[in-house]
Amino acid sequence: MADPSPASRAGLLPGDEIRSMNGQVPRDVIEYQLIADEAVVDLDISRGGFDLSLSVDKAAGEPLGAEIASALFDQVRTCDNHCEFCFIYQLPKGMRKSLYLKDDDYRLSFLYGNFTTLTRFTEADLERVIDQHLSPLYVSIHATDPEVRARMLRNRRGALSLRWLRLLLDHEIEVHGQVVVCPGVNDGAVLYDTLAGVLDRFCDLATVALVPLGISRYTTEAAMRAHTPAEAAGVLDTLAEWQQIFQRTLGRRLVYAADEYYLLAGRGFPPAEEYDGFLQHENGIGMARAFEADLLGAETAAMAGAAGHTTGFFQWVEGAPATGYRAPRTAAASQADAGAPRSGRVALRRRSQHPPTVLTGEYGAKVLRPLLAGIGREDVGLVAVPNNFFGGNIAVSGLMTGSDLAAVLSDLPEDRRYLLPDVCLSNGRFLDGMQVSELPRPVEVVATDGRSLLQALGAR
Ligand code: SF4
Repeated sequence: MADPSPASRAGLLPGDEIRSMNGQVPRDVIEYQLIADEAVVDLDISRGGFDLSLSVDKAAGEPLGAEIASALFDQVRTCDNHCEFCFIYQLPKGMRKSLYLKDDDYRLSFLYGNFTTLTRFTEADLERVIDQHLSPLYVSIHATDPEVRARMLRNRRGALSLRWLRLLLDHEIEVHGQVVVCPGVNDGAVLYDTLAGVLDRFCDLATVALVPLGISRYTTEAAMRAHTPAEAAGVLDTLAEWQQIFQRTLGRRLVYAADEYYLLAGRGFPPAEEYDGFLQHENGIGMARAFEADLLGAETAAMAGAAGHTTGFFQWVEGAPATGYRAPRTAAASQADAGAPRSGRVALRRRSQHPPTVLTGEYGAKVLRPLLAGIGREDVGLVAVPNNFFGGNIAVSGLMTGSDLAAVLSDLPEDRRYLLPDVCLSNGRFLDGMQVSELPRPVEVVATDGRSLLQALGAR
């Protein structure tokens, strides 16, 4: 049995509410962690309506050993924009409430890699980011022209809020930017102008990602539509031109396009080295190449970082474990994080002798099919699960839902092993609330990286 944690030795119990630590009231897990790192931590707690004080003695930097319920202890800062491309407005009704929360909180940017528009950023926030060196941060740019940006965010503050980006960069905060490219709105000449604006005003950004508008069948915005293949090719042509300009002037590429663009335009992915370390892997930049390198065993330090850094869609809303800022994808993983033995249908299912079939989104299938053929695994079945839940152009594996999987699985034979990437799960649940155990066939949940898939496939 493991030794009790310092918090437990001091008498802290599950369910206790920490009111203050060393006389301070932490606002979030960042401040909690800073105080918890001290050698002596005096806790004022509330237990069943009674106030108590405890003192934890430990080595400086030693974990306190308390599990906290959420990443933010005060309120999450919600966004005051009304972007016509916002995916939250495109969700069907009746999903769990937490999924409808529009956050625009720099702390979630630091903790989870969420993108912030900085429209609600303040002087006090800037001071804190600099003091505590909350870096890297992730900022939605969309357009550097103030008028276009304000129009896209439907918020007049959007015109000026990139001034905070300049200040963050001036104080050596690493910032990654993204442009959600909406055809007819900020592609073409506007995108060209945006990249010129990046060169002119924000050339110290670490990276800029170009990601395509995701559009579900629930959108009510008449002007929002998916890219055509020709438009996707146009974005890639602009990218190629600007990568050359950035390379010439800054000595690095700076801007990258999401994998979806290459699939849509019918072009091959750039070689892995052209992703320069996969710094926006989670945003869909270079996932296919990183996966391929992992699968083929061509691991580099950059790949290891990329493959191990996937949180999935809406992950932060499901809560942050004390062991790290990132929520586990499966309930079994959560137990493992907490030191409990793994158990249950998902984690411990004994591998059957049936041939394997990989379940994935339509984009994932396009990437995986040639990769599996390349490693001689024609024995592996591959099923592209159409996304009827969201509809529109949604085809990524991270947005697969239980209901779509159930519809597909019920028509598939029983004598197969079904492998499911964990990127579509958060704490063991799909976005539509279903659990893996409710699917009509047993499935094995596999971490979304090439090496894990290879292991799960087993020998031919
Ligand atoms: S800033 Fe993000 S959350 Fe807010 S409306 Fe725009 S897309 Fe939605």
